[in-house]
Amino acid sequence: MSKQKKTKEKSNSLRNYLFMLGFICKHTPFYLFGYLVFDVLANIPWILTNVVLLKYIIDVVTSGVDLYRAAVACVAFAVFIIIGNLLNTVFYEIYLPKEREKLYFKMYSVIYEKAAKMDYEAYDNPAYYNDLVLAMTSMSERAQQVMSNTKDILTNIVSVLTIGTVIVTIDPMCLVFVFLCVAFMVPVGRLIAKVNVQRTEAMTPYDRKNLYFSRVFYLQDYAKELRLSRAGTMIERRYQKNIHDRLATISPYLAKQWKLYFCQESMPLTLLIYLGITLFMGYKAIVTKEISMGDFAATFNGATAISNSVFAITSWFAISFRENGLYVEKFKRFMNAKEKIIGGDNKTVHKKPVTIRFENVSFTYPGTDKAVLKNINLEIKPYQKIALVGYNGAGKTTLTNLLLRLYDVTEGRITVDGVDIREWDIPTYHRNFAAVFQDFSLFGATVGENVAMNDHPDAEKVKKALASGNFQKDLPEDTNTILLREFDESGLSLSGGEAQKVAIARAFYKDCPFAVLDEPSANLDPVAEYTLNQAMTKAAENKTVIFISHRLSTTVMADCIYMLENGEIVETGTHEQLMQQNGKYAYMFNLQADKYKEQN
Ligand code: ADP
Repeated sequence: MSKQKKTKEKSNSLRNYLFMLGFICKHTPFYLFGYLVFDVLANIPWILTNVVLLKYIIDVVTSGVDLYRAAVACVAFAVFIIIGNLLNTVFYEIYLPKEREKLYFKMYSVIYEKAAKMDYEAYDNPAYYNDLVLAMTSMSERAQQVMSNTKDILTNIVSVLTIGTVIVTIDPMCLVFVFLCVAFMVPVGRLIAKVNVQRTEAMTPYDRKNLYFSRVFYLQDYAKELRLSRAGTMIERRYQKNIHDRLATISPYLAKQWKLYFCQESMPLTLLIYLGITLFMGYKAIVTKEISMGDFAATFNGATAISNSVFAITSWFAISFRENGLYVEKFKRFMNAKEKIIGGDNKTVHKKPVTIRFENVSFTYPGTDKAVLKNINLEIKPYQKIALVGYNGAGKTTLTNLLLRLYDVTEGRITVDGVDIREWDIPTYHRNFAAVFQDFSLFGATVGENVAMNDHPDAEKVKKALASGNFQKDLPEDTNTILLREFDESGLSLSGGEAQKVAIARAFYKDCPFAVLDEPSANLDPVAEYTLNQAMTKAAENKTVIFISHRLSTTVMADCIYMLENGEIVETGTHEQLMQQNGKYAYMFNLQADKYKEQN
């Protein structure tokens, strides 16, 4: 790695540390301040006891005078330490855990808010997605480590300064030993940090695979296949191989590291401090009697403590400093990512349906170069029921995604009542639409909340919406029945079709002029589908409805059908008109009708 790159990385790590400390300070200033200052201060009594009290007591004992004074000093120190410990315990066991909870709450609130606001297209971007996953899974732990690292560095600096001052007053020569010890430890420490970084990098591919293996065994998505096949054994074998390869890769690094640790820790400490200082100061204390026995003990203890502090700063901290810096970098990138779908000032919420127009709309997904919609022109009049049909990949979902501003058009424009939808304030724009997606999600919340999509559902309205969606299941606690097991062990599990009906009820519940339904009947049986169609026509009388369906029996009732192929509208008209045209729609319809006939 070039010198320039290394310096840049270090200053980035420092900047990332400051960013994280700033973030913590902004959200829980007392936590940060208390954590850093208290701990650094709490270390001082220990230093004083270890160096100053020891010296005092030994001096008094060896000089044989005034044992009473020594006893008083011991008691005073003991009281000092007990009070210190009491404060310590209250601080660490009560104050800090509460403040930590506050920090985690604030941190995740900010992350969730950012994740929900980000452009939908960000999910197509693996780098962004990785940053999001990292932020979600490990940022609280990293924040804690950044604080703990900073505290440790400060504590060790204070320790070095305090003890250094005491030693200088006894014999500055001792610092020469300490200096030599440090001069040896620092470069070896850097070497250790370097090997550790190489080791972490070499482990990354194996760790990524390990994450995949655990996902396979804990996610429900894989549970059925694992039980019905031998896929579990297949994956376990891969896992075994991965662990084997990981071990083979890590071994040379471990071999390098133990030697370096041995050199760093043992050599300077043993030779310079344990042997060097003992001989030098022992000579002065015993032979020339220039210093007292207390001075001897204090300098020996002090020099050891300084060396240990320097050892800690140069090895462990150097390693985690870089590693935490890299994680914070990803968090920062996630938090600072700019949205591309920008809202305007228009805050119109239409009470009644108005005309929607697609004008020469073309669209290419970001990061790709093939247009998936080409020069689309269509006009949807108020209260119309519009069906989008076509083969898989024709561009139907993309078209509704553009209307919902999950993506912005690449060319052309979409207008609602003549106004370009990019002029709208985005949350306000979305209030005009009810949307049911083919990959809809139910949330761990009550049925009522799942239909209303807020935490204050109107029970009567929810029931009406569920009835319009033809949801007939008995709910043990009516609309207050909890769905999913996360919040309630007796949470209700729904079948695919039932879940879809709850999702459809959302469109009936929301007072808005437009409904977009992407494959609303995909999980429904033919009877439920028929009933849904009837209900939809009735309940959605006051709305414009745009729906996508592969089952062409649902499109019969549409006021206008748009048949898409390769991103273009190839046929337009009512069911009767298109059947008369005897084109692609008629072909698809007849094919499906024949299938139904065969099945029955
Ligand atoms: P339909 O709803 O008609 O089945 P889509 O609108 O989902 O079709 O997809 C149209 C085309 O766009 C397909 O070729 C699909 O592969 C592509 N596509 C869909 N989503 C993305 C995406 N997020 N990134 C890149 N290409 C996409």
